[in-house]
Amino acid sequence: MPSLYKTPLTALGGIGKKRAEQFEKLGVRSVGELITYYPRAYEDWSEVNKIADIREEGLYCIRAVLAAPISDSRIAGGRILSKGSVYDDTGAVQIVFFNNRYVSQMLQYGGEYFFFGKITIDNYGKQMVSPSFSSVAEGTSIHPIYRQTAGLASKTIANAVKQSLKLLPKEISDPLPEQVRSAFQLCDLRTALTGIHCPADAEALETARRRLVTEELVVLNLGMRSLREHSRGSSGVRITSDHTAEFEALLPFELTGAQKRAIADCVNDMINKTSPMNRLVQGDVGSGKTAVAAAVCHTVIKNGCQAAFMAPTEILARQHYEGLSKLLEGTGIRVALLTGALKESEKKRVRALLVSGEIDLVIGTHALITDKTEFYRLGVAVTDEQHRFGVAQRAKLLSKGENPHLLVMSATPIPRTLGLIIFGDLDISIIDELPPNRKPVRTTLLHPDERYRIYGFIRREIAAGRQAYIVCPLVDEGELDVASAEEYAAELMLKEFSDIPVGIVHGRLKPDEKEDVMARFASGELKLLVATTVIEVGVDVPNASVIVIENAERFGLSQLHQLRGRVGRGDAQSFCVLISGYSNDVTRRRLEIMCSTNDGFKIADEDLRMRGPGDFFGQRQHGLPQLAIADFADAKSLELSQKIADYIMFIYKDLRCDELRLLNAEIERLFDRGGANSLN
Ligand code: ADP
Ligand code: MG
Repeated sequence: MPSLYKTPLTALGGIGKKRAEQFEKLGVRSVGELITYYPRAYEDWSEVNKIADIREEGLYCIRAVLAAPISDSRIAGGRILSKGSVYDDTGAVQIVFFNNRYVSQMLQYGGEYFFFGKITIDNYGKQMVSPSFSSVAEGTSIHPIYRQTAGLASKTIANAVKQSLKLLPKEISDPLPEQVRSAFQLCDLRTALTGIHCPADAEALETARRRLVTEELVVLNLGMRSLREHSRGSSGVRITSDHTAEFEALLPFELTGAQKRAIADCVNDMINKTSPMNRLVQGDVGSGKTAVAAAVCHTVIKNGCQAAFMAPTEILARQHYEGLSKLLEGTGIRVALLTGALKESEKKRVRALLVSGEIDLVIGTHALITDKTEFYRLGVAVTDEQHRFGVAQRAKLLSKGENPHLLVMSATPIPRTLGLIIFGDLDISIIDELPPNRKPVRTTLLHPDERYRIYGFIRREIAAGRQAYIVCPLVDEGELDVASAEEYAAELMLKEFSDIPVGIVHGRLKPDEKEDVMARFASGELKLLVATTVIEVGVDVPNASVIVIENAERFGLSQLHQLRGRVGRGDAQSFCVLISGYSNDVTRRRLEIMCSTNDGFKIADEDLRMRGPGDFFGQRQHGLPQLAIADFADAKSLELSQKIADYIMFIYKDLRCDELRLLNAEIERLFDRGGANSLN
């Protein structure tokens, strides 16, 4: 198997350079990767129905003969409509294809085929639109459906997979040792690979799935463990005195009880434990996590150490930098910013001051974890919005000191089983209280036709001295139906809001251009900000009272909640307007949940329940590797994998032992694949 990862796809018959490029778009570059490119779904052709027995609309497989040659005709837009009629000994079905130039040659008059597809029934009889079909000689079974890409159909992929399965060596060495497989009733690798791609029946498929899902989660589990073990031991940082009271005196507000408890938890970890602090502070958007982090940094610095505060975006880093510089003015604490967008010379200057210990608090982005950044005496590493960072990145930041303390902050409530994997070693403080005088944001759902109603509303809010956000999703190439941020903003500026200062931020702006717009919005010079999701995390402009979210159906609920958290940060009543031309009930219900609650945990639960885990974190930004077959919300398999991982460590003690050589290679492959950085 390992060698198959080095075998190029072109080694397979019928795959030339061009085909190989198409496969590459799916992330498949080698025969090994093709074998682990698992079907996304299956069509069950094993039950063949008599046409007369089909009385309800639904998915069916029939065995039928083509009654006459397929007839092609041109319809609107130059598309081709192909029609035919097929029959068995009980009845007939009309089959219809759109824009399938080959179907009239592929289906022979008088030939007998299996057809699989959705049957609709009306007064004229039964119809199947764009069914899949295969010749009777191929037999019926469970057909795999692969995620396809332009020019590369699922069926083509299936054929390539079949070929590559034949290249598997007679004896496949299995990453899961025999002893482990038999202890947990998992099938061997060959059975699993054959069963997942070409299952003989539903049972074979289930056996294969169980084995592959479990293996992947075991690999994930062991990988996370080894990351953890790399970083922890006893702390080299000595914190002896608590300076929270001093810090509180600097704040323009009183800390909430929950904030005080979180700070006390952290200070207690640092002063009273020998191992370094490893704490997650989880609190809904707007709960005041920044103040908690600042208090912790302050105490660490007053104990003669440095603090590093890592934020996921330039905008956020700069905002924290500005806020904290101001807050700490007059305390003698030296604060600096270190982000990728700074000039090379400035970065060099800041790095020099960090090594020599002339900076106490550094706030930055990923620039903090590059090899060039070194500290004089790093006491605490803070990561904001932790779910956006890879676990490996967290470890990297920690490696910059002698086992410094770690504080991670997150607004995303994470399902328990998943939390065990991501944050298994973390203690948790929850900020379950919002600062006083917060009025819950009022959320409304509108159809795009009602959009004009908001413009007047925004005007009135701006006239009353407030500010507003309008969010439209960033266009992916090819998705031209979605308003792009720039065009949309240009239109607003020219028409609706020609007399109001409007700014735009989107992903393609250079970091300093982005900063500039954000700064002008934060200072109140710009009244309306049209933005893509770059405003999602953390941005804090308390004077903003309205957020309008276009194409709301394109966001996950947790993302919408984060976005909504940009308003409702000050004393004014704030509003969130979701605009969506949704076309189905599920979407409407999802968006209505947003209107009915402001509770982030409740929303996360609903999100997980309704959309499934794949989308839970938005765009894979949880810092975990991308899974090929398993599912982060599959609690049962997660638990089983935990058990197996324990068992493996109990039996073999060391991941680097010879029996686990292949499993170890799988760990590296998984963590290389994306999401997280590779293990070091
Ligand atoms: P988040 O938890 O989303 O990171 P922030 O730390 O950005 O929240 O805080 C949100 C806003 O609430 C900020 O404007 C902050 O100054 C303010 N804030 C934080 N704590 C308090 C408090 N105890 N009382 C009043 N306002 C607070
Ligand atoms: Mg924040």
